[in-house]
Amino acid sequence: MKNSTPELMEKLVSLCKRRGFIFQSSEIYGGINGFWDYGPYGTAMKKAVEQLWWHEMVETRQNVEGLDSTVICHPKVWKASGHLDKFGDLMTDCRDCKARHRVDQMEDKSLCPGCGSKNLTEPREFNLMMKTYVGPVSDEDHAAYLRAETCQPIFVDFHLVRIAARQTLPFGIAQIGKAFRNEINPRNFIFRSREFTQMEMEFFCEDEEAMNWYEYWKNERIKYYREILGFGEDELKIHDHETLAHYAKAALDIEFKFPFGWGELEGVHHRGTWDLGRHQEFSGENLEYFDQEKNKKIMPTVIETSVGLDRTMLALLCHAYDEDSAETKKEGMQEDIRIVLRLPPRVAPVQAAILPLAKKLSENAEKLYKDISRFYRAEFDVTGSIGKRYRRQDEIGTPYCLTFDFDSLNDNSVTVRDRDSMKQERVSTDQLKSYLDKLVYNI
Ligand code: ATP
Repeated sequence: MKNSTPELMEKLVSLCKRRGFIFQSSEIYGGINGFWDYGPYGTAMKKAVEQLWWHEMVETRQNVEGLDSTVICHPKVWKASGHLDKFGDLMTDCRDCKARHRVDQMEDKSLCPGCGSKNLTEPREFNLMMKTYVGPVSDEDHAAYLRAETCQPIFVDFHLVRIAARQTLPFGIAQIGKAFRNEINPRNFIFRSREFTQMEMEFFCEDEEAMNWYEYWKNERIKYYREILGFGEDELKIHDHETLAHYAKAALDIEFKFPFGWGELEGVHHRGTWDLGRHQEFSGENLEYFDQEKNKKIMPTVIETSVGLDRTMLALLCHAYDEDSAETKKEGMQEDIRIVLRLPPRVAPVQAAILPLAKKLSENAEKLYKDISRFYRAEFDVTGSIGKRYRRQDEIGTPYCLTFDFDSLNDNSVTVRDRDSMKQERVSTDQLKSYLDKLVYNI
């Protein structure tokens, strides 16, 4: 299976840097471990993936509302959520090679995974919250924290959102935003970093209905990965948690087969009434919901779906990366290996590349670019042979190349070349929008 080869990760990291998808933050200073920057194509793709999630989870649902809260909240939020007291991993240091490891990730808990030494420190708790100070004085009274997950502000704002949006149970609140964790061992490229983006949705419902909603959201999310992102049967699996938090009735991870092994992509969790209950206790505000039918106050139960945007990016890139050989001959290229990202057209950084066959055609082709770029992420490229330009577009995952040639001046048509089949079709420019709509959005 192509996405399980260990070299794939190296190839991807190198492609991402070379083509401006993702590279180390602060590289000229030697980089900073666990932080990554997204370059031009990476940014375009990340925004598209984010928008796709938002569209599927918020814009197409009457019972889910959006929120955009601050990264820094009142410190009590993290006291109530338990992050300040408990949010940590057990870790151990190797006295020989000085590496620090998360105990839960060590296969053999008594051997250093780096150098094999037995000379390890006793495991100890390490808090993952990142600390800062608000205001001019840097003392404990002014300490604050960068949020470690995007969901806590959702619980804190529950009533404000519910009332403003005139929602009744059951309904959800979704948010996309940065989260920060002082991970002990950031690794596997963007899989585990210290600054990352989460896409979370908290669904508030009555306790009797909660397990039905849990099943519903689990199925919705699996459908999303299979049907919208196109992940295969062999790339995804569900891992039901055997041990649950004391307040939870069910929890599962949706795992993706990364080149380094199976890894969590998304969590679907039954969180009971824990979060609202804690914030009610710590804030002294009543966070109950008045159920008109039952004529009584209840504390809503929460079902959560929580996914990392960066992990989704990594999964998509692993899924999409491909090399094919013989096919390239078709386009008269000398080299026999073509690198191609088979990204779903909806999230490809460039959806249509407009390629004039000769420089002379640039002016007319640019008019087409202007038209197409109103509806699609488009790129105009006039440099190099047409074969080389196709290769460049293949490497960044552009599903459709529109070649503008001398005939185009007369017949108002362009040749549309499909990334995956490399087949070419002549399409009239008047028909291009509906032609691409069908291919990209299936409409
Ligand atoms: P893990 O066990 O891998 O540390 P987690 O169970 O702590 O993850 P959650 O707290 O459930 O993760 O966070 C929800 C989602 O946020 C995860 O499924 C993952 O996609 C993403 N995520 C969590 N930690 C990181 C990280 N350090 N870097 C990138 N994404 C992350």
